[in-house]
Amino acid sequence: MEIYTGKTISKGIAIGKLYFYAKDKQQVKRYRVEEPGKELERFEQAKGRAVQELNTLYEKAVREVGEVNAEIFQVHAMMLEDEDYNDSVQNMITAQKVNAEYAVASTGDNFAGMFAGMEDEYFRARAADIKDISERMIGILLERREDTGLPPVPSILAAEDLAPSETVQMDKEKLLGFVTRFGSGSSHTAILARTMGLPAIAGISVEKEWDGRMAALDGALGQLILDPDEKTMKELQERLAQDQDQKRLLAEWKGRETVTAGGRRIRLYANAGNMTDLVSVLENDAEGIGLFRSEFLYLESDHFPTEEEQFQAYKTAAENMAGKKLIIRTLDIGADKQAEYFGLEKEENPAMGYRAIRICLSQPELFKTQLRAIFRASAYGTVSVMYPMIISLEEVHRIREIVEEVKGELGAQDLPFGEVEQGIMIETPAAALISGELAREVDFFSIGTNDLTQYTLAIDRQNERLEQFCDPHHPALLRLIEMVIQNGHAAGCWVGICGELGADLELTEWFVRAGIDELSVSPSMILPLRKKISEAE
Ligand code: PEP
Ligand code: MG
Repeated sequence: MEIYTGKTISKGIAIGKLYFYAKDKQQVKRYRVEEPGKELERFEQAKGRAVQELNTLYEKAVREVGEVNAEIFQVHAMMLEDEDYNDSVQNMITAQKVNAEYAVASTGDNFAGMFAGMEDEYFRARAADIKDISERMIGILLERREDTGLPPVPSILAAEDLAPSETVQMDKEKLLGFVTRFGSGSSHTAILARTMGLPAIAGISVEKEWDGRMAALDGALGQLILDPDEKTMKELQERLAQDQDQKRLLAEWKGRETVTAGGRRIRLYANAGNMTDLVSVLENDAEGIGLFRSEFLYLESDHFPTEEEQFQAYKTAAENMAGKKLIIRTLDIGADKQAEYFGLEKEENPAMGYRAIRICLSQPELFKTQLRAIFRASAYGTVSVMYPMIISLEEVHRIREIVEEVKGELGAQDLPFGEVEQGIMIETPAAALISGELAREVDFFSIGTNDLTQYTLAIDRQNERLEQFCDPHHPALLRLIEMVIQNGHAAGCWVGICGELGADLELTEWFVRAGIDELSVSPSMILPLRKKISEAE
């Protein structure tokens, strides 16, 4: 047994024979042409054919991985119309009198090299897209449309690299998973692999000689095991069987409404902690995003994110949700979430310290920058906003004043914004106890059970040693939740839960009976929860 460790591209287990996918880069010769005009024509015709192929691929991808993920092939088609790209190819043909495939290959290499050298990981990953387009164009120009090189029987594919178009073109029946030497977690190939549910790892120096050997791929651990021994094989087979059960569940519950056995609709939303989560939010069929933890924008940055940077991120999220609700939680920094440039002082009790809304209300300019970005993004989807760590009516009044200022300023600048529902998180016992009064001021409540548990039971959520004392079903907590739902409803507020407790299947029946309107959980819990809700009276 040999174990090779690379990096996770897509989780899951695959067991089967390894198939080495040898894909030699197409050799392109340079030669002088007498009539560059004819080469320009060949280039234009090849582009037309490439666009046709990409449209066919797009349609296949829409069926298999959904519209959002399929978009990459439309982007490829758009890249073919890029002015710089076309100028480069055309100039080479006319100035150097070279053949079209040579001009395409050189331009592709130059552009891919430029992207590969960029600092930003997202742009670096785009080098693979450029290579993919370039190879397609060269293949058309050389009239060399080789077979797809697919394994004859279902196998784990090993390759130096895989292009997004190759990944989609492959027959899923023949592909158990793949392992490559190159490829990043944010490449489109990786995104497609995750969406297609194919286990995949990268960063392993695959060898031709491995072809035909028995292998197991553990996507989560980023491991490739060659000739697994009996014990390892048994463990992996058990996990594979569990994964398959989960997949069956996915297929069965995707696209359905979330309704209780008694016929009541419950909104089933997902929590998202960064932009990459958007893929799994959609993949798992969430009906909206119930908690968009905006602080990731601040934590992943080395400076206060500008209004424009935030606006772009919220707009992208809103557009991806395509009309489904996106609830953005305003900055919840402090305590365990620290960013150096905030210059926050060390505190004795950070969980009960200067954090979240307290920072925003003490530094209104910071708060206003975020609110402006959120309200501007609301012109591109169904955006709501909610405020964390509330303890008093005064805080809510002050927030509303600031929101009115922001709306007035945006209006004066002719910057569009939509109707934005406003809610608060109920994550302190204080907020739960005065929820009757608070409900008159807002549109909705979202109960943050992670913090509500911490403050109600006086158990630091960061301290592992206290786990034995922590009863997540403590009657004090359940009574507070019940009270919040009743007070919210009495004043016409809808009430949801966005803390981890919302995904606790032992409590689903209880939440439904207590009258909960929404549950927002991590994306992988959406479908199991939809099933559970359907069984609740
Ligand atoms: C919560 O406290 O339950 C919550 C959802 O917020 P966070 O976990 O981000 O503190
Ligand atoms: Mg919280």
